Amino acid sequence: MTDRLRAMFCDHLSIMRGKYLPAHKMRDDESRFARPTFSVHYDKDLLLDAPHTKCREGLPDMALRWKADEIRAGWEPDTNVVLGDLYGDDGLPLPLCPRGALKRAQADWQKHGLTAKVGIELEAFALVKDDEGKLVPYDTPGGVVYGTGNFTDPQRFTDAIWDAALAAGFRLELITAEYDTPQFEFTLSYDEAVRAVDEVVLFRQMAREVALDHGVLLTFLPKPIAGKGGSGMHINLSFEDAKGHNALANGDRGGPDRLNDLARGCVAGWMRHHKALAGLVAPTALSYARLQPASLSGYWCNWGGDHRGVTVRVSAEGGKKARLEHRMPDASANPYTAVAAVLQAARLGFEGGYPLLPMEEGDCFDRIDAGQGVAASLGEAMDDLATDTALCAAVGQGLCENHIFMKRAEVDKTAALEGDALRDFYVWYV
Ligand code: GLU
Ligand code: MG
Repeated sequence: MTDRLRAMFCDHLSIMRGKYLPAHKMRDDESRFARPTFSVHYDKDLLLDAPHTKCREGLPDMALRWKADEIRAGWEPDTNVVLGDLYGDDGLPLPLCPRGALKRAQADWQKHGLTAKVGIELEAFALVKDDEGKLVPYDTPGGVVYGTGNFTDPQRFTDAIWDAALAAGFRLELITAEYDTPQFEFTLSYDEAVRAVDEVVLFRQMAREVALDHGVLLTFLPKPIAGKGGSGMHINLSFEDAKGHNALANGDRGGPDRLNDLARGCVAGWMRHHKALAGLVAPTALSYARLQPASLSGYWCNWGGDHRGVTVRVSAEGGKKARLEHRMPDASANPYTAVAAVLQAARLGFEGGYPLLPMEEGDCFDRIDAGQGVAASLGEAMDDLATDTALCAAVGQGLCENHIFMKRAEVDKTAALEGDALRDFYVWYV
């Protein structure tokens, strides 16, 4: 017997907000939230002038609407979960709604007869509290990249995540240890873009909650531990055409010499909008500690074949598995907004017939052809985003205006913080 519904949305800070509701809400229904949720910052400061939040117009409601057939099993006892779309008091889709932005991006691609499909890789570090209550890295002295078993995870909290994922019906592709310790990777099966991102935001929340039950703070922050590697949220993209074929396929082999016009357009769009994309897909102060040269993380404006040093990696797999991997995003971004931004930049490149710059030939450590990288800081990334009016219009003017305002405030809030203090500004939320 499932006796309550947890209805949720993922906000501008990538925080899950929601309510527990009685069982009779398990149908097409809605629940109301204060619209100025989109004015609230990580430190709970309410920014009255945050665009499109109506803080100075009486702080009205917005409605979260969901569909009965999207209600699914949760991971808490007797609790189903559902994600919805946000609407304003005028009954129209809320311009600030990240899931709405992704639905628009999907609809824009569907005008070309193509359905975007994505597969998302999540990386995260595990922290625990020491005897004084200070957060320290989870102790995994025998941890190695691709480590499995109890040397990698002595408390077996990742086993608990696996079990909970299975019980809740997540389509989990893998759990393994990442390059650094204590760093883990979780990959979910690819799916239609909105469904895939729904899975990601729920899985990420579930994983953080299950880990916390084991005394572990699992953080998806891009660079929680200075001196260790970063954590990304790589987005793998393909398209399904009307016949159900992968529209990126060009024979049974993949790779840079097999790019068709669609693939070339997508990559060209990502290159043209490289700097502005960062502001949407890597949107915290710590994102710019991760996005550095030689960090395998999507810093450079470049693309290549099976090459982890470039930002856009063309898979060597072809046919049904043909795909493009964008390596810049991190999970401090709202995953709906990040995927929407990646899809819209790709669409601008495809529709605009942008020329494609030559592929990277360097090793991206000592030799690099790419002439430019991303901004050095969150503040500069917001300037790059604000300048790219085409990308902002494509992703959603209102959403971008709110985002830039909130993130510029974040620049001020974090300016004097460094090391653990900077991490702790975010770490309980991301
Ligand atoms: N941890 C790297 C990043 O920050 C990626 C490593 C990998 O290739 O999976 O994106
Ligand atoms: Mg990885």
